[in-house]
Amino acid sequence: MLQVAHLTKTYRSGTRTLTVLQDVSFSVAEGEICAVVGPSGSGKTTLLGLCAGLDLPTAGKVWLDGQDLTVLDEDARAALRNRLVGFVFQTFQLLPTLTALENVMVPAELRGDRTARRRAIELLERVGLGDRLHHYPRQLSGGEQQRVALARAFINRPRILFADEPTGNLDAETGAVVEDLLFELNATAGTTLVIVTHNLELARRTGRILHLRAGRIVADEPVHATTSATRHG
Ligand code: ADP
Repeated sequence: MLQVAHLTKTYRSGTRTLTVLQDVSFSVAEGEICAVVGPSGSGKTTLLGLCAGLDLPTAGKVWLDGQDLTVLDEDARAALRNRLVGFVFQTFQLLPTLTALENVMVPAELRGDRTARRRAIELLERVGLGDRLHHYPRQLSGGEQQRVALARAFINRPRILFADEPTGNLDAETGAVVEDLLFELNATAGTTLVIVTHNLELARRTGRILHLRAGRIVADEPVHATTSATRHG
């Protein structure tokens, strides 16, 4: 579903250059759940943005569903993103002037989907917000906003979902609800998940942990089923 080869990202400011990612290679199979962990500043958010085609690498390749993102122009990348990718941010990123329902409908409407409203309502019901359809983001708690953001990320039935610290702004209990929803959506829709997190418990619940340090992958370890079964059993 996702393949990354020899990815390097360098930022320039004036005469200084900062190499944020260096020779990063890995792939993620369809339906897999993968966590990316590492200290602050190690390049996790940059990596996620490159994998999702939000930005281009300085060197290296990114294939999403076999399509090389790095040879596409911005419009073609946006079209591919809209077809394949969902994205969830730590800070929710809902549009403040739209209701929960309208926020969820936006990506589907952009694709001209006439069933957008009905499906948005179904998704909001599925994340437990059937009674919050016409609330504005400021009228919702953090956990509710993140559940709206999840519904929005899912409305176009993405094959792969990137989540950047999706529980980072939530208390433990609310974070667990959002976390369960991510895993449920993977189990029911087969959506590939790539989750950046500081939450080691969440990371251990996935099938695999990529450890990033100073822009390099220093470990890529499978999580054994017994570990999470013990933890959650
Ligand atoms: P993490 O998500 O692991 O905290 P980031 O990918 O956000 O790491 O950032 C990695 C490094 O790249 C940091 O030192 C950050 O300051 C720098 N950085 C991120 N985005 C930019 C940018 N647009 N311009 C310059 N430097 C950036």
